[in-house]
Amino acid sequence: MSDLRVRFAPSPTGYLHIGGARTALFNFLLARKEQGTFVLRIEDTDVERSTQESVDAILQAMDWLGLSYDEGPFYQSDRYDLYKSKVSELLEKGHAYRCYCTSDELNAKREEATKSGGHPRYDGTCRERIDQPDAPFVVRFKTPQEGSAAFVDRIKGTISVENAELDDLIIQRTAGNPTYNFVVVIDDAEMGITLVMRGDDHVNNTVRQIPMYEALGYEVPEFAHVPMILGADKKRLSKRHGATSVMDYKVMGYLPEALVNYLVRLGWSCGDEEIFSMTDLIDKFSLDNVGRSAGVFNPEKLLWLNEHYIKTGDPERLGGLVAELLEGQGVVVSDGPDMASVVKTLQERAKTLVEMAEGARFYFEAPISYDEDAATKFLNAEKRGVLELLIKHLGALADFTFEDVENAFKAVMEESGLKLGKIGPTVRVALTGGTVSPSIYDVVTVLGQDAVVTRLQKASASIS
Ligand code: GLU
Repeated sequence: MSDLRVRFAPSPTGYLHIGGARTALFNFLLARKEQGTFVLRIEDTDVERSTQESVDAILQAMDWLGLSYDEGPFYQSDRYDLYKSKVSELLEKGHAYRCYCTSDELNAKREEATKSGGHPRYDGTCRERIDQPDAPFVVRFKTPQEGSAAFVDRIKGTISVENAELDDLIIQRTAGNPTYNFVVVIDDAEMGITLVMRGDDHVNNTVRQIPMYEALGYEVPEFAHVPMILGADKKRLSKRHGATSVMDYKVMGYLPEALVNYLVRLGWSCGDEEIFSMTDLIDKFSLDNVGRSAGVFNPEKLLWLNEHYIKTGDPERLGGLVAELLEGQGVVVSDGPDMASVVKTLQERAKTLVEMAEGARFYFEAPISYDEDAATKFLNAEKRGVLELLIKHLGALADFTFEDVENAFKAVMEESGLKLGKIGPTVRVALTGGTVSPSIYDVVTVLGQDAVVTRLQKASASIS
């Protein structure tokens, strides 16, 4: 166990999106690689927008991706007493003050500042105020006016901002609820976080948070800000660029390992390697190879990785997943052929589990009708003879292995004088209803003798 403590701190205001998942993944990988601790904290102080449904969705997506955590989930909504005591502490120490400015006053000042070309920020009216009128107030942090907040980002290098450029941030609103930048500092410090890794949209928050650590007497952790993920048009990733919810990818038939492999490469590299298992990643991941520029989301590459993991996946496991999908569509798979064998016939051609389920359907459901063009071409009076021969030879087999099936076809070819190229399409239409399927011997073998003979008989009977 090392001293490294990292965290993922999502706000439960929606599903887990691609960017959040990558932040979680990087934290997880670093914790596992360095045998540190990965903490999950749910930042639910925005009561209006936080929902239990979102919490559940985030936990479910992390679980699906295999991102296990060691501590938590901790909920900020359970920690209000702590935050209140820290507000009092800052007020007592003179690091915070009550601000009675009304929003009208603040708006007017802001407008004026903008008009005169200045920076619209709080002008410090209540900073030195000592009276305590009986009026609503917020609590503001007294940002030091001299010096600068500087830190060495583990990814971006030194970042520094003059304190004079920073506002006196509100740390407690009129209703008494604490604000994001304040509670994050308390939580990261109290949870002993040694490295705060998050999206680089938080760099501006970090420079505001550092003086708060100092005022509260906390040690300032290290920071690592991960570059954004952009769409192909170099705009911030949004729904326009494709699905952004992690779980949408599950629904679209992606494997979690494909998404993990894809996400990690959005910002991190290891030579020109592209394929990484979770074990590889835990072994190889390091912040040294996280780039400074934004990653560009490329759905085709994600699909390519998914195809790779489908091709190389364990048929038993993929079979379970495909069965789940088919059952979800009302297909009864329990009395059909063995799922792993079905999967093996489809692994070479499917890019997603959804495609695989689509391709597997005929194994469990006999065709109700035949593709019209295909039937005209391949299930006509001319083909009746060969169908009868197939029924005879396949029906007579005592065993139904691939070789037995192959031999039965050879016998049919001999007896009919037709090549496989002439027989195959007829069998395919009879068994699947259409002209596209895995290799015909595989289909016949996996489908099994009873189903094959029944379907051939039905096809033969359909010929008028
Ligand atoms: N709750 C913040 C968010 O979801 C993250 C805060 C942080 O990582 O410090 O954007």
